[in-house]
Amino acid sequence: MNGHRRFAPFVTNRRRGQGQKSGVGGNPAYPRLRPSPHPIALYEALYRRWGPQGWWPAKTPFETVVGAILTQNTAWTNVERAIANLRSADALSPDALRALPPERLAELIRPAGYFNVKARRLRAFLDRLFAEFGGSLDRLFKVPTDSLRRLLLSIHGIGPETADSILLYAAERPVFVADAYTRRALVRHGWAAPDASYDALTQFFSRRLPRDTALFNEYHALIVQLGKEQCRSQPLCDTCPWQRWLPRGGPRVISRAFSARSR
Ligand code: SF4
Repeated sequence: MNGHRRFAPFVTNRRRGQGQKSGVGGNPAYPRLRPSPHPIALYEALYRRWGPQGWWPAKTPFETVVGAILTQNTAWTNVERAIANLRSADALSPDALRALPPERLAELIRPAGYFNVKARRLRAFLDRLFAEFGGSLDRLFKVPTDSLRRLLLSIHGIGPETADSILLYAAERPVFVADAYTRRALVRHGWAAPDASYDALTQFFSRRLPRDTALFNEYHALIVQLGKEQCRSQPLCDTCPWQRWLPRGGPRVISRAFSARSR
């Protein structure tokens, strides 16, 4: 969407398997983190399995913003139903959404769950958009990336993952998005501590990759696919594209090591 070019895997000069000295979010309570492969090798394994994901699944940048706010704590299928309701009500523009009475907005987004909370969050975003940018997403997206991130984080109900999703998928900035799937996969391999900060998780990727919007777009989408298809609450490691990077004994060994040291 939004004319993103596809980011196909590329050949890198770095030797495969060449690890960094440690993972991220190191905490003295935990054992030393395991060396990780270069994130491009991880990316290529995912891309080979699943190919381009075509994210974000939205028709306009504004719809992406709405989806990023609605998707907090719920499955995307529920967000799709809420977005479909908004589309039927012709409310997928800043002006139209703002004109909706609060009860009507909450009713339309009900399928996304926590609908009163999310209605307030959408209103908070719109209030700021109209107060400072005349309701124009184009004007908002002229703000430089760091300032725009700070601005988004200062809006009620927008946390780092939502802000970064808006930056990456709506504003098309090279910002890496980390989510619960990212944390789970990195921790299960011993590349991140269970209590690693959000920023530490994003830096695991962004510090070692070219700052490329198309790459970050595709990478996050592929990690979501990894989390849905393989790295579930009960991981399906035997058929997983990241299986080759597990230690002998799999995620249980890592988990035991982390819990033993944190007691
Ligand atoms: S190999 Fe296992 S732990 Fe690693 S990402 Fe795949 S499913 Fe998750």
